[in-house]
Order: sequence, then structure tokens, then C-alpha cells
Amino acid sequence: MDIHSVSVVGAGQMGSGIAQVAALSGCRVLLHDTDDARVSEALAGIGGRLADSAAKGRIAPEAASEALARIHPGGGLEHAAGADLVIEAATESMPVKKAIFSALDGICGERAILASNTSSLSVTELAAATRRPEQVIGMHFMNPVPVMKLVEMIRGLRTSDETYARTAGLAERMGKTPLEVRDFPGFVSNRILMPMINEAIYTVYEGVASAEAVDGILKLGMNHPMGPLALADLIGLDTCLAIMETLHDGFGDSKYRPCPLLRSYVHAGWLGRKSGRGFYVYGEGS
Ligand code: NAD
Repeated sequence: MDIHSVSVVGAGQMGSGIAQVAALSGCRVLLHDTDDARVSEALAGIGGRLADSAAKGRIAPEAASEALARIHPGGGLEHAAGADLVIEAATESMPVKKAIFSALDGICGERAILASNTSSLSVTELAAATRRPEQVIGMHFMNPVPVMKLVEMIRGLRTSDETYARTAGLAERMGKTPLEVRDFPGFVSNRILMPMINEAIYTVYEGVASAEAVDGILKLGMNHPMGPLALADLIGLDTCLAIMETLHDGFGDSKYRPCPLLRSYVHAGWLGRKSGRGFYVYGEGS
């Protein structure tokens, strides 16, 4: 059975990108968030990006307007009842995500698949909050979703082959490359990336170099397209901290201890681009 109708839960930077690529692949999309303003901002952002892609000739103008017309504000979670697939992209917190999965399990049709865009949390544990663990999977899109090719596909302990095949098929329809990994803290992407970002933060914390110098060294010396601190600001420092805590708790190894400077920036509300300040300042005054 193919996937035609997708509900996206969480209309932040990831949810809005996922809604966009799902609509471009031909799916009808409902976009939910506990904060209605986030849904309105996401729809405006998607409209702007699609118009920009059409203006640059990357997609046909009709494809852009048709995709936008397929995305609707989702209202309450109960409207996810008709979805073939729900992709959860809410805040990186196990209690928040478990509550969403448990509610969706009672709302959605029995064949519906429940996927999480979590960056690090246990898909197996999320699946255990439902009565359909075979139909729960991790679909870890990369940021920015419309640009990045990878979807890291995380199979929980009980994820079925059918669930994997249906969701990997959708990822391909979206023009992405699905790569399969097992369910361990941080999976592959963030088990490797986030300790590097954390170490970059330590070098600033210890006064080894400025943020600009650290980023310059990785860009010019290692050919990274973006420095680790600019990347941390793009990801969101709250999300970076949540991922380091998951690695630290999950492996019980001190090599994953989050840098105190990262913690203190998050406590200050310096979350990176989304709050206007992180390792760099964005918007007015930058
Ligand atoms: P964000 O802060 O931009 O957005 C999170 C959204 O979730 C907010 O709009 C918030 O209102 C909403 N939300 C919170 N609780 C909710 C609930 N109970 N129901 C519905 N909506 C709720 O965060 P983001 O960067 O979009 O990250 C979302 C998820 O994607 C996280 O799990 C994160 O780890 C993962 N992720 C992030 C990145 C990245 O680079 N930022 C990359 C891959 C995966």
C-alpha cells in the first residue's frame, strides 16, 4: 500500500521542510503544532521557498503552486486520523515524543505508520508507547530538508520489513537516499557529528581559539562546507544539548559529556539562528 496522506507533527524548521518535500512528492499534507503561530510561519516559509525554487527554474511554477495547495494546517492531533503516515518532528524530548506517539496510536487507522524525525532518541522506546511497534520507525531527515539528500532510516527492535519498505519508498519518491541503521543512541549521523561539534565548543570554552577561527580551520583545513559552530547554530543549540545528553546517558561514557558552555548558552536562551543568537548573532545587529 502506497503512502498518499502524511501528517507532520511539529511545524518548526524540520517539520516545515518535511511538509514541503512530502507535498512535492505528491502527498496530501496536514501540518500540526501546539503553537498555531508556528504553523502559519511554516506555511509562509514553504510558500516563499517554493516560489524561489520556481523563480530559479528548479521546479515548474505549476509544481510549486500544486505542492503548496496540498499542505493544510492540521489543527488538533485528532485530524491525523486519516493519515497513511505521521512524521513527528516535535522538540527533541522523550516525554514530549512519547505523549505524541501514545496519542497518535489511539487516533490513527490501524495500518498507519508512525515515524519520528528524532536526532538521537530511542525509536524502540517510542514504539513501546504504542500498540503497533512493528509500524514505528525513525525517519531522520537532515537540515535543511529540501536540500539534503539523506534520510537516515532507524529500525527499532520490532520495526517490520513492510514498514521499512513503505517509508524508504516514500523517501525515494521525495528524491532522497534512505540509508538503514540500527537503533542506538545518536544512530550514526549524530554519534559522529555531535561529539565533533561538542569538541569545537570545548576549544572555544577553553580559550584555545575564537569561534571564527575554529570554524575557519574546519572549513579551510578540512574542506567542511560549514564550520561546526555555525552548524550548531543552524541545528539549534537546545537540540545539540539534547543529543549530547542522549549520547552521555545512553552509553554512560564521559567522552560524551556536554560542554558547560553549550549548557550555559541554552540556559541563556541563545539557541542559535532560531533565537537570533548562538555562537554568532543573526538578523539585526549581526
Ligand atoms: P524546532 O524547535 O524548530 O521545532 C519544534 C516544534 O515542535 C516547535 O514548533 C514546537 O512548538 C513543536 N512542538 C513541541 N511540542 C509539541 C507537541 N506536543 N505537539 C506538536 N508540536 C510540538 O525544532 P527542529 O529543529 O524542527 O527539531 C524537531 C525535531 O527534529 C527534533 O526531534 C530534532 O532533534 C530533529 N532534528 C533536528 C535537526 C536540526 O538540524 N535542527 C535535524 C534533524 C532532526
